[in-house]
Amino acid sequence: MGKGVTAASVALLLQSAGFRVNLVKIDMYLNQDAGTMNPLEHGEVFVTADGCETDQDLGHYERFLNRRLSRKNYLTAGQVYARILAQERALFYDGACVEVYHHFPAEVVKFLRRAGRGYDFLLVELGGSVGEYQNILFFETIRRWKMRCPNQVWLMHLVYLPLPPSLGEMKTKPAQQSIAELHRLGLNPDWLICRGPQAPDQPRRAKLALVSALPQEDIFAAPDTWPIYRLPLLLLDQGFLRRFLTKLGLPRRPARLKSWRQLIGQVDQLQTQRSIAIVGKYYASGQFSLADAYISVVESIKIAAWHQGIKPEIIWVDSEKVEQHGLSALPKKVAGVVVPGGFGCRGVEGKIATIRWARENKIPFLGLCYGLQLATVEFARHVAGLKRAHTTEVDRQTPHPVIDLMPEQEKKLLARDYGGTMRLGNWPCRLRPRTLARRAYRRALIYERHRHRYEVNNRYRARLEQAGLVIAGTSPDGRLVEIIELPASSHPFFVATQFHPEFTSRFLRPNPLFRAFISACQQNVNYNLT
Ligand code: GLN
Repeated sequence: MGKGVTAASVALLLQSAGFRVNLVKIDMYLNQDAGTMNPLEHGEVFVTADGCETDQDLGHYERFLNRRLSRKNYLTAGQVYARILAQERALFYDGACVEVYHHFPAEVVKFLRRAGRGYDFLLVELGGSVGEYQNILFFETIRRWKMRCPNQVWLMHLVYLPLPPSLGEMKTKPAQQSIAELHRLGLNPDWLICRGPQAPDQPRRAKLALVSALPQEDIFAAPDTWPIYRLPLLLLDQGFLRRFLTKLGLPRRPARLKSWRQLIGQVDQLQTQRSIAIVGKYYASGQFSLADAYISVVESIKIAAWHQGIKPEIIWVDSEKVEQHGLSALPKKVAGVVVPGGFGCRGVEGKIATIRWARENKIPFLGLCYGLQLATVEFARHVAGLKRAHTTEVDRQTPHPVIDLMPEQEKKLLARDYGGTMRLGNWPCRLRPRTLARRAYRRALIYERHRHRYEVNNRYRARLEQAGLVIAGTSPDGRLVEIIELPASSHPFFVATQFHPEFTSRFLRPNPLFRAFISACQQNVNYNLT
């Protein structure tokens, strides 16, 4: 619906007015983090620098606010219960009867107070929707807190106003329902944000004002917009910041969004188009395809393209289709190919075939995490002559395990110790001089975020290097391969990383590697010829 982007936009407005703002995303499920969830159901797992596997909304927050968040910005019901249960075992409650009704809200408030310490504002985004059983305790927490400190807690309610084509009229019914549902929980919103294909007109605003007992000046529109980074400006132009501060009894402050506005203006003017293919498997959801599983990759491509003066067109390629139908399932005209992260064996041969196609046809290629591992497999099989080389994640019997588990990881898997135990978060990487990666980052040492169990097997390193593979980045001790490339003399841009550079792109500052990739796509001669 857009709660994440709205929360990020509001936070950006406050931040650009000089306030110190922090954000928390609350998810209501019992998972302790997003790491064990299927991306098809939950969307992308976003990884913070301190190695927390979180909801994709934290990615929006980082891209909008241009700053790093941490595990202090993400809370799930599972975490709350885990803490309460551990505290009960440690006699923390001093013999009291531990009750959901008292101790759950207390634990949530403790977390939020800590997250808000040192900031002027803490924006809390509550996942799910009003009326769901599961999140009732979070609403109850807010009700009690607001009751005690009415000037400290404020509610912004995002409602959806559909415009069914068969009716040709914007309907307020779902919004009326969810406001009524909030009332039943003992809450009334302080502001309404109206999502929908367009902004609500006067009669509909009047209706919503009546139902929510709010003056119309507290009702704002967040219509569908492109790119999503325009939303802060749309809100600002409706007088959102002024009204927000007035309601809180704070003096007015202007928002400084000059470079933001400039960049949006440039995006509107872009003419030169380039198509970039993303080859993945987390797409199908019933009859619909979802891009959410790769949202940071998509946003990174777009942002880098905009900064390079290009209008990107993303082409989705289903790796299983390539597996079944061969290269005919690939698009005819692409400027570049990205193979993003992934797990398991479904569609793997399709990804390998695509990487081979990109390598042999000199199409700019960027591999991310599993993308690096499969590019290594492809190179081992077809260039280094290691027949049936594979990752042991897919084939435990392979004669050439070029990608394999480290012993610590092997132990964890045997013990079924899955949650939060991959190589996670920021790791340093030393870049080799005169490589594409070094040229892109313009630094010798970088920190990027990881999320994987498997690694390039050091037993095969010499063999792969002899066959022409360039190890462009390793851990500072040299033990872990972090970046591979093909020499610039043999391919215009073939780079793959064990880390996820997509997690550090910001709207105002694209990740350097994506930028270098897009620049290679821009110069793709074959593309210009076809
Ligand atoms: N499945 C691979 C691993 O666990 C890659 C993970 C990823 O792409 N995030 O190592």
